[in-house]
Amino acid sequence: MAWAGILRRSDLEKPMIGQLNLAAPPGAKPNDNDMEQKRLVEKDAPLKKDDLLVITGAGGFIAGNLVKHFLKKGFTRIRAVDKKPLYEWYLRNPGVENLCLDVSQEDNCHRVCEGAVEVYQLAADMGGMGFIERFRIECLRSILINTHMIEAAYRAGARRYFFSSSACAYNTDLQQDPNVRALKESDAYPAMAERGYGWEKLVSEMFCQEYWAERGMKTAIARFHNVYGPHGTWDGGREKAPAALCRKVIEALDKQDLNITIWGDSTATRSFCYIDDCVKGIDMIMHCDALIATPINLGSSELVSINDLLSKVEKIAGTKLQRHYDLNAPRGVAGRNSDNTFIKQVLKWEPNTTLDKGLAATYKWIKEQYNKRKAGKRVVE
Ligand code: NAD
Repeated sequence: MAWAGILRRSDLEKPMIGQLNLAAPPGAKPNDNDMEQKRLVEKDAPLKKDDLLVITGAGGFIAGNLVKHFLKKGFTRIRAVDKKPLYEWYLRNPGVENLCLDVSQEDNCHRVCEGAVEVYQLAADMGGMGFIERFRIECLRSILINTHMIEAAYRAGARRYFFSSSACAYNTDLQQDPNVRALKESDAYPAMAERGYGWEKLVSEMFCQEYWAERGMKTAIARFHNVYGPHGTWDGGREKAPAALCRKVIEALDKQDLNITIWGDSTATRSFCYIDDCVKGIDMIMHCDALIATPINLGSSELVSINDLLSKVEKIAGTKLQRHYDLNAPRGVAGRNSDNTFIKQVLKWEPNTTLDKGLAATYKWIKEQYNKRKAGKRVVE
């Protein structure tokens, strides 16, 4: 019997419900279906530089940087889509077809996917812990985006479909200790995902697996772990820890009030993936036949406590602040790290930008935005 990672077209013949053994780890012993897989994954025609790439959520952080990545690689037909008005996009890349459309609406998804060779679905209503704990319904409603987009991509005859999943899909029972064991791909099942956001991601992953199993569309699923870097959210309530801490340190220095309030008791641990590694990883995962319909971690394995993260930011800024802890603020799980055994095995690569290097670039960028805003210039937060 096949496990989730190796569902193949041959499974079409078999009843699916109740047969999926989603807990089997990637890298499990090959079985008969592996042999079928090797026969049945048809080779793509080489991707041409003028093939149409559709990237949704492109007014946001990761997808905006992904557009930039493909432009740099020489792709000439990129359709970037976001529901935000264009002036609110973090990055507006020249030479790109920018569409302001809401992809939770089915009709829009068909328009968006028309002629697409590859679709990268990164649109979601999301933010840091503060947002996903407070707005669980909004997070769950992203299911509309993911159901309509994958169907539209399939009907448009897209060759490959990428889905941006999250480490929030992992079983939260395994993340109760700051000295957490790094999460490997099979740890999502038995399922006990993060309320709202995590469950939505898990179900949408399943769509990707079944569109491959039942309909033969090649799908890719990456579970991102806390992505950070320039051109991301840095203020307003949706920002994540690295951006929030950079901004707070910059603010403290600017106001000469050397105090900082941190959410939680700061012993929680996380790993943070630099944006350049993230977009490189998306490209590699999307084009790897061994990873079709197979969820994979895309994160750094450099674990850090929030306290140590702040110390790093202070070092970059050349200051030391008096720390205050807001124990009523949203905290999320106690610890979370990415086990990169599988990605190293399959791609011979893992996200490798050090936190020190990535944070320095992020701090510099946020400081520029902060100063621009202070000078009365328009910035996107
Ligand atoms: P982001 O908020 O910067 O970008 C998401 C974009 O999607 C936003 O610009 C938003 O306007 C757009 N969007 C939302 N609903 C839409 C709709 N109905 N139609 C069209 N556009 C819509 O977030 P991001 O950090 O760039 O995240 C991108 C993807 O990666 C998301 O799916 C997110 O869940 C996932 N992810 C991100 C992280 C992270 O650390 N940033 C971690 C795990 C997973």
